[in-house]
Amino acid sequence: MLLLFRTPPPTDSPEVQQWIQDVKNSGITIPNIPPTVLGGCAANPQAAADASRCWWTCGGCTRTTDVTTCPDKLTWGLTYDDGPALYTPNLLNYLDQHNLKSTFFVVGSRAISYPALLQEEYLGQHQLCVHTWSHSYATTQTTEEFIAELGWTKKIIKEVTGVTPLYWRPPYGDIDDRIRAIGLAMGLIPVMWTRISTTATFDTGDFNIAGGLTSASQVLQNWEDIIGNASQIKTGFIVLEHDLFAQTVDIATGYILPAALANNPKLDIKPVISCLNKPLSDAYAETNDNTTNPFPANVNDSAYSS
Ligand SMILES: [Zn+2]
Repeated sequence: MLLLFRTPPPTDSPEVQQWIQDVKNSGITIPNIPPTVLGGCAANPQAAADASRCWWTCGGCTRTTDVTTCPDKLTWGLTYDDGPALYTPNLLNYLDQHNLKSTFFVVGSRAISYPALLQEEYLGQHQLCVHTWSHSYATTQTTEEFIAELGWTKKIIKEVTGVTPLYWRPPYGDIDDRIRAIGLAMGLIPVMWTRISTTATFDTGDFNIAGGLTSASQVLQNWEDIIGNASQIKTGFIVLEHDLFAQTVDIATGYILPAALANNPKLDIKPVISCLNKPLSDAYAETNDNTTNPFPANVNDSAYSS
């Protein structure tokens, strides 16, 4: 089988031990919520029924700290997950040709394979965000394991580009209050994708084409449904797409982006940080001046302040 993601990093290294200390000293309390087991809601009925855990996977619970949409109607916070990868250059070329900027959720273990692509994204004024090291289900990991996932991904992005992202996205949207708190304690605000009901999430399903679990025509139908829903809601929207596979990049550049650019009414397509009406400098620890983007954004009105 194609090795898409690497295994989670060990927790006994000096780096991870330091990050664990940093989280303890962050002033943010990590809730004592036990990890889930693999298999989602069906395999974890107790956790799924526990509203106080606020597990997005089972019911779409969000907190005020979560970015779930763009505030302005018909504004699309463009995102691509799981790269950088072999077909990312095709996507970057298309974006360049149409003067579009995107947000990229970067997998740390893939960044070490494609550092030049990561630099190209950064220098091209796209927004880089953390998407963990091994792309595991975060709620299944221990607190120490998950600290290692975020810490190593922040570190590789900093080493390659010189900046440390202030935003992250949980793989599979697998986030609960423990995972939220770990991210916030490590200086990372979660970015989800828009969800307006149990059946209407703004997920193209593109990730599943390569594995044969869905078809390109189904993904196009999903896109039509997303655009239909986007025209009905009062806010803008954020969509889940991927730059990992040939099929996902082909469908983005060959259909979804051309359709979006031709859409009537016109869509305002931009990175998530821009759709939040913040400058790109607010996307990174080193360039955020804390005047327009005090961090963590809403942490004091959330469940995490100690
Ligand atoms: Zn992902």
